[in-house]
Amino acid sequence: MEEGDRVKAVCRGVVYEGILMPSTSEYVVLKLDNGYNIGIRPERVELLEKRHPASEERRVLVRREGLPEVSILSTGGTIASKVDYRTGAVSPKFDAQDIVEAIPEMGELANFNARVVFSILSENMQPSHWVKLASAVYEEIDGGADGVLIAHGTDTMAYTAAALSFMLCTPVPVVLVGAQRSADRPSSDSAMNALCATRVAVSDIAEVSVVMHGTTSDDHCLVHRGCKVRKMHTSRRDAFRSINAFPIASVSYPELELKVLSSHRRRGEAKLELHERLEERCALIKYTPGAPSELLDFYVDRGYRGIVIEGTGLGHVGSHWIPSIQRATEEGVLVVITSQCLFGRVCDRVYDNGRDMLRAGVIEGEDMLPEVALVKLMWLLGNYPPEEARRLVRMNLRGEIEEETRGEWYFPQPL
Ligand code: ASP
Repeated sequence: MEEGDRVKAVCRGVVYEGILMPSTSEYVVLKLDNGYNIGIRPERVELLEKRHPASEERRVLVRREGLPEVSILSTGGTIASKVDYRTGAVSPKFDAQDIVEAIPEMGELANFNARVVFSILSENMQPSHWVKLASAVYEEIDGGADGVLIAHGTDTMAYTAAALSFMLCTPVPVVLVGAQRSADRPSSDSAMNALCATRVAVSDIAEVSVVMHGTTSDDHCLVHRGCKVRKMHTSRRDAFRSINAFPIASVSYPELELKVLSSHRRRGEAKLELHERLEERCALIKYTPGAPSELLDFYVDRGYRGIVIEGTGLGHVGSHWIPSIQRATEEGVLVVITSQCLFGRVCDRVYDNGRDMLRAGVIEGEDMLPEVALVKLMWLLGNYPPEEARRLVRMNLRGEIEEETRGEWYFPQPL
């Protein structure tokens, strides 16, 4: 018997039927008909049916006249893994044919060109990957794509979305999409997210956005601005939320009706530009009771050019950190303060420590998410002289800063 065969296994008197999966231990792994895998030590295994190599034959992908051209760039993560329902194997292979075969409704919306840029889990994504990905997106748009879809792991998708928001000026939609549950699980969000994301890729929303489930039901996806979004739950399918901003739009499922919820840049408004340089010597530090100020000194001593502090409340650190902030700013390091509250805006003019921090040279990060402030600092220091970068930190460049702080944007979001 080999992987992919359909077998019957008997374990402690219970009979299990399923597909034989790869296994590295003494356990036999079976993919059951409900999509879940089990590992058992059976007393007996019987072959029911050999796998059919014939199903590996590919159909020819038909391109339809008049449909928009969407480029799919795959970077890896759960959404980009293709599960062969017959063998149970998960492979990173992901081309236009795979996608349209797996989700035929996508073929009604666009013609696809697909390429694999990386095949990595997004926790392995580094700033150097953002640079390569931004260049790949630029090439696709420059080559005539009407929209770009990026399949990405969910863990660091918001960082990549923020990086692309700053690096690219785009005249067409650039949509990041992921999945919290893989395609072999009955509760998978892969297909619905991909379909809603395709709807956005052919829409008028010419921004970098993230499209993921809006609720735990399969009823709609939300379209989040790339520099205002965060993964707020480890496993829920509606883990992604806009923070200090309303989502740009929603897409109903299965109708795929797009409802615009806030203003956005329209198709063709911006000229395509790529500014991909980054200063990687930037860090994000969290202030906690008991955290030593040497954390700041550590980065300054190593030549870092920018530091974002995730402070408490309105944007504070304990007073023992202030001399190290002062030292950092005197050495030309940009120090930006954000809040670990995530919701709301920092204001260092209210309490004593805040005022001392301002005197020490700290820059208020307005209502930016700490990680967005980090990516913005990398980008500003990579593209502008430090004084200009200092001025631009507090200016809204890509929708990362909202003018007003509005209470009703509080999590969970109403629709
Ligand atoms: N850890 C995975 C990743 O971010 C999870 C996912 O794909 O959603 O790549």
